[in-house]
Amino acid sequence: MKKIFLPFLLLGTLAFCQKKYVMVIHGGAGTITKANLSPEKEKEYRETLTKALQRGYNEIKNGKSSLDAVTVAIIVMEDSPLFNAGKGAVFTNEGKNELDASIMTGNNRKAGAVAGVTTVKNPILAAKAVMQQSEHVMMAGAGAEKFAKEKGLEIVDPKYFWTERAWNSLQKVKAMEAEKKTSKNEQKLPDYFLIDQKFGTVGAVALDKNGIITAGTSTGGMTNKKFNRIGDSPIIGAGTYANDQVGLSGTGWGEFFIRTVASKTVADRMKFLKENVKDAAQASIDDIGQLGGDGGIIALDKDGNIAMSFNTEGMYRGAVTDKGEIEVYIYK
Ligand code: ASP
Repeated sequence: MKKIFLPFLLLGTLAFCQKKYVMVIHGGAGTITKANLSPEKEKEYRETLTKALQRGYNEIKNGKSSLDAVTVAIIVMEDSPLFNAGKGAVFTNEGKNELDASIMTGNNRKAGAVAGVTTVKNPILAAKAVMQQSEHVMMAGAGAEKFAKEKGLEIVDPKYFWTERAWNSLQKVKAMEAEKKTSKNEQKLPDYFLIDQKFGTVGAVALDKNGIITAGTSTGGMTNKKFNRIGDSPIIGAGTYANDQVGLSGTGWGEFFIRTVASKTVADRMKFLKENVKDAAQASIDDIGQLGGDGGIIALDKDGNIAMSFNTEGMYRGAVTDKGEIEVYIYK
């Protein structure tokens, strides 16, 4: 008798101990080490990530949708100058802020995205409006701005997005670029040319009481981007994806996330190869690494399991369980 019951007992205890997450977020992956983050800044990041998780969790706890949870969490990060999204977005080569965002709900695979907007205070709300209030999935530039205005979203002077940190980054990257051009031996120049150009994008994935998963991503793109370059963040399947099994949001060198269709690939690995969320997310990041790209991806599956994979020094990230326990991490 005892022999038969013991495995069941163990399995039962394991299931009981297993954490069920209802939301996972990221605030970008990159060269984030203890050495280049002051204790004060680290505290600010931790506080803002915690606030985003807390707000998202409250929505879920109160029976709201995962769409609401993702939206409120991303707004906290868009409104903070710490991240490369909304206020704090990086600058283009021409010294402008061009913002991209997308959102997707897993149960019906509806999606919305905006790219290259310069006056919408919270691009994630514009992405949501595209999904809910238009027959399209993606709008860009002036058209997207006009649509956002028509839908009553807050429009700001482009100056609103200006931050000293992002401005200084642009100056630094431009100086490095100039140095690279005049250097006789380009090959010898280290990869620091890439440092600071990217990362700081924000994203969130939530699972609500109805079992519906939503994923969203918002970014300013890459510092010094040219020619209205658009990254992976507003591209469904690359930077953001959700189905009835899993939701995903990526951050990193966008071109690689587009080329590997990173988010959709994770979802497909789970669906067709029956991989678990951690293995599938890691495989996608490994693939990006093999091509020479870097970044990270967060995922949350229908059973409340999460993945936070990255191949950079660090990734601002965190998760909250159905009991409201908040975890926040920065380094490896
Ligand atoms: N993935 C974003 C892009 O390439 C950048 C980032 O994650 O910070 O536009």
